[in-house]
Amino acid sequence: MTLDAVLTRIDADLEPALARLFALLRIPSISTDPAHAGDVRAAADWLRDDLASMGFAAAVHDTPGHPMVVGQMDGPGPHVLFYGHYDVQPVDPLSLWDRAPFDPALEETPKGRVIRARGAADDKGQLMTFLEACRAIIAQTGQLPCKVTVFLEGEEESGSPSLVPFLQDNADMLRADLALICDTGLFSDDVPAITTQLRGLLGEEIVITGPRIDLHSGMYGGIAMNPIRVLSRILAGLHDDQGRVQVPGFYDDVEELSPALKAQWAGLGFDERAFLDEVGLSHPAGEAGRTGLEMIWSRPTAEVNGITGGYTGAGFKTVLPSQASAKVSFRLVAGQDPLKLREAFRAWVRAQLPPDCSVSFHAHGASPASRMDISHPAFEMARRALSQEWPGEAAFIGGGGSIPVAGYFKEILGMDSILAGFGKDDDAIHSPNEKYDLTSFHRGTRAWARILTGFGAS
Ligand SMILES: [Zn+2]
Repeated sequence: MTLDAVLTRIDADLEPALARLFALLRIPSISTDPAHAGDVRAAADWLRDDLASMGFAAAVHDTPGHPMVVGQMDGPGPHVLFYGHYDVQPVDPLSLWDRAPFDPALEETPKGRVIRARGAADDKGQLMTFLEACRAIIAQTGQLPCKVTVFLEGEEESGSPSLVPFLQDNADMLRADLALICDTGLFSDDVPAITTQLRGLLGEEIVITGPRIDLHSGMYGGIAMNPIRVLSRILAGLHDDQGRVQVPGFYDDVEELSPALKAQWAGLGFDERAFLDEVGLSHPAGEAGRTGLEMIWSRPTAEVNGITGGYTGAGFKTVLPSQASAKVSFRLVAGQDPLKLREAFRAWVRAQLPPDCSVSFHAHGASPASRMDISHPAFEMARRALSQEWPGEAAFIGGGGSIPVAGYFKEILGMDSILAGFGKDDDAIHSPNEKYDLTSFHRGTRAWARILTGFGAS
């Protein structure tokens, strides 16, 4: 059948596929460094030419920052948008690299062959898996099984300043039935994953003011209220002894994990102890009765990120400060409204203020969590495709952090995203000696070919 022929072609063409990836990796497209603006553009041009060589209608689109590359090819099935980014992180400190970061090579390691270069895993190696899958399908069948728009960003590693305006201005060109994003990792070396839920973030800074000026603890200690005492008491009350956040209403809109996902996560065999052991800890500190994966993927949190107040320099000063402050962040899950929780947190703090103390708040960002609608059959189709390429059964997993582009696709273009990437924890993305496993590149290419073929069949 056709898919088998496509997969055979991918296997046979691994060498020229690597040569193409190496050509892209040789371009030092560091987006944050203005000295490399020409290189970023050269990478965009290279990708446009590569897409055009396959028959895509491809163009480099200017933005106020680095350009976007968009390529489009029609096909009979649904319309999918593929996203990757072709810019890379700086390479400093260069002295820690074992070879020049933009001189890619295949290296033998005890854990198998790896592609060594800046951008090998993040994200050039990953985005090329999709392009190579398209190339093999087109070469074998003369067309793609569905309509494909390839959308490649050049500013991901420098905060994506042009992304939202570009999506807004080009919504008609980019809107598809579904997005495919290749910028994440495997769950573990043998277990692939599709990230289907990402937590949101709410940041708050609170400043508590007591006396008009700093006071001497000999003269005022005892009669004057110390704002550090007030702040400490409030922060200490943020969690109860079961690890539950005490802001009223905090859990009101939190939905329970579905039994199916709960079972899938349990099947991943996540070792909480080993995970914590890596950072010198041993006991999970989240809500009692929750698994470690639930704590980092599907439960909301509150954390104090910093506290200031009084004298913290060398030596000692018996000061009773006028002010004390703290930065507090919340990781949010689907259903929770960041702005509603901001108000709930502020009201909770205000209600605990003693006489003579006042509080001011500074907002530091509020983004909701995102959760994909995995009842869309493409998710299960993609999960099966990944499972066929790796030894372990693929899982729908969560992410503790956020991947902004997935949120923007949902918000601005109304699309869910299948976040499937093949990086490994030891890829050293953003660090010296970045690598991408050859198996990730090869299996990833084959997996995309299966997924694209699956779209054609749907
Ligand atoms: Zn990336």
